[in-house]
Formats: sequence, structure tokens, C-alpha cells
Amino acid sequence: MAKNIVVIGAGVAGLTTALLLSKKSGYKIVVAAKHMPGDYDIEYASPWAGANYMPVSVSGTDAAEWDKNTWGPLEDLAKNNPGAGVHFQECEIHNRTKDVGSATAEWFKELLSSNPWFAKVVPNFRALPKEALGPGIDSATVFTSVCINTAIYLPWLVSQCLSNGVIFKRSVFDHILDATAPGIHPNSRVDLVVNCTGLMASKLGGVQDTTVVPARGQIVIVRNDAGKMLDMSGTDDGDEEACYVMTRAAGGGTILGGSYQKGNWESQPDPNLAIRIMKRAVKMCPALTDGKGIEYLDIIRHGVGLRPVREGGTRIEKERIGGVLVVHNYGAGGAGYQSSYGCAQAAVDLIDQAWNAQAKL
Ligand code: FAD
Repeated sequence: MAKNIVVIGAGVAGLTTALLLSKKSGYKIVVAAKHMPGDYDIEYASPWAGANYMPVSVSGTDAAEWDKNTWGPLEDLAKNNPGAGVHFQECEIHNRTKDVGSATAEWFKELLSSNPWFAKVVPNFRALPKEALGPGIDSATVFTSVCINTAIYLPWLVSQCLSNGVIFKRSVFDHILDATAPGIHPNSRVDLVVNCTGLMASKLGGVQDTTVVPARGQIVIVRNDAGKMLDMSGTDDGDEEACYVMTRAAGGGTILGGSYQKGNWESQPDPNLAIRIMKRAVKMCPALTDGKGIEYLDIIRHGVGLRPVREGGTRIEKERIGGVLVVHNYGAGGAGYQSSYGCAQAAVDLIDQAWNAQAKL
């Protein structure tokens, strides 16, 4: 008999988990969420992401394993599936010695290493020669990565799920067990709930994980083309600010970032921060404006998203809540895309195991 599953959440975590589950036989899946692809909301991180593959996970951790297991599927989409809105871009990581010990440099420690674990995973990893470095840059590495146009990729995930028989529903749950209420799943019995609620896992009844907090990311989306992705080890504007540039696939514009403001829920763009973001971006990447100032940036929109950062990293665990089997997949912080397939596969493995282990829970 098919197992009836409700996935709460239609961000990249919920959609990727539903997609991998839908490729297996024996599951009847409903994705139920407050926000769906097409929406832009401060409670919905996925549309705001760059999104690229630029691992910051530390070698030997589960997070590094999930990132590693995600490169293959993303590379495959970029190579073989243009409809997904994922393309290859070179990614340059610029390192300033003066940033050592700063919050960003600590966060990026593995990324800034001259020999990170992913050097053997992504193609063409190499150091840039000294003569290629811009003013103030002490060293740099470069590799082939991908950049995802989230406005194409999220609906593409929905469409793949629909083709595999997944049902989508708008629902807002106060408590995780509300996902088992009549009317959510077409079959009255729900066997398992998958919790992919991101930052809002901090508020969802039955979960209320207060170790999940926002790391506010402000961005400017412009029509200018950078031609490559760039990232800097730090900024001169304080520990909560960052500097990166990435051009999305298929006309998705170029994302200028950013910030990493922990504990900050502010949904509106800060105009002063926006100016600092643009100034840093044109300095790091003069090609954006042919060496001219920020007035030569052609702005599409300003944006703010909240990364769901969890103390202890992404939660992929199974649990029984009020007698109902639950598998969690939330709290990916700034890595929700680059860890998406690894995390979703780990969650699916737990779901597969759950039936055998039911008696032990
Ligand atoms: P979300 O996308 O927030 O989705 C949560 C879902 O749960 C939504 O559908 C919501 O409606 C639903 N939900 C929550 N609570 C309830 C409820 N009570 N009832 C019903 N539904 C509910 N990651 C990368 O890998 N690469 C990048 O380059 C990158 N860049 C980023 C740049 C910025 C500016 C930001 C903000 C993030 C970036 N990220 C990046 C991180 C990435 O966006 C997140 O890790 C990822 O989107 C989290 O996805 P999610 O599915 O867990 O959560």
C-alpha cells in the first residue's frame, strides 16, 4: 500500500525532497506551503538566493558531504537540462590578508583555503597568478561553478514534481500536526510529515526550534553583466557585510550582495547599505560598469532575504511528534541550493528507513 506523505514547505528544500521522493515508487506526496514559487516574501528565502555553488562547509562534516553530493546533480542540470535555468560560470574567490579573523573570513575559511575539499569536486580549480590580482587582493582561487536563476529553477522543480504525480496545496499550519488534518492529503491517513519550513521552523508548533535564526541578506539585482562570479573575503564596512557578484542563467540579471546580519528580521532594503553594496561590487568587478561608477548600474530591484541559519547546521533527523512520524530537513543557512540534493537524499534515506524502524521510534 502506498505511504501518504505531506511535505511542508515549497522552498528549495521541500521541492527537492518532494522531487527525489516522487521518483520512487510507493509514495503519494502532497507539498503544502504558505508560499510557493512566484511569491516574494520575507518568510520565503529561496527566491532571493543568488544562487550559486560556493561551498563554505568544513571538510569531514555532514555539511561537506551534502554539498559534495549536490555538485553532480547541479552540474548535470547545467550540462543537459537548459530548461532548469542553471548555467556554468567561473567563480573567483578574492582573499585579502587583512580580513583574517573577521566574521566573513571565518565563515569562508574553507572557501578561502588554497586547497579546500571541493577542489577535487568542481572542475578547473586553480590559484590565480599574482599578476591577475586586482589592487588590495593578496591571493585568489578560481573554479567552474554554477549559477541558478531561482525564478526559473523553483517553478521547474514544481513542474518536475507535478509530472511525477505530486499534489500542491496552499496551507498555513500553526502546528506541524495540522498537516495530518482531513483535507490536506487526498487519502485520509497521513503516514509521515516532512518538515521543510526553513526559518519558520522557529515558530511552527510542535517544532519551535529557537536555534534557527535569520541571517539577513540584502541584494541589488542589476541588468549589467559581470561575465563571471566573484566573492571577497571581507569588506571594510564591518563584520555584517559581504561582497559578491553573480550573473544568473537565462536573463535572470546579476545579483550584487550583500550582508549577513544575524538575528535581523528587517524585510525592507536599507538604502545606505544598498549604496555600499553597489560601490563594493563595481570596485571588485569594474567590468560591470566598464570602470565607471554606480550610476552606470541599471537596477532591476532591491531585495532582502533571510537565510535560515541553525546552530549545529541543517537538521536532517527523524522524530515522532504526537504519534506521527516526522522527518526534518531545515536550517540550511546560506547553503540551501548548494546542499539541496545532498540534504534531500539524506532526508529520503531517513523516510525509507522510517517504515522499518517505526517500532523503535
Ligand atoms: P524557504 O525557501 O524559506 O521555504 C520555506 C517554505 O516553508 C516556504 O514554502 C514557506 O511558505 C513554508 N512554510 C514555513 N512555515 C510554514 C507554515 N507554518 N505553514 C505552511 N508553510 C510554511 N544558498 C545557496 O546554496 N547558494 C547561494 O548562492 C545562496 N545565496 C543566498 C543569497 C541570499 C540573499 C539569501 C537570503 C539566501 C541565499 N542562499 C543561498 C540560501 C538559500 O536561499 C536558503 O538556504 C534556502 O532558500 C532555504 O530554503 P528552504 O526551502 O529551507 O526555506
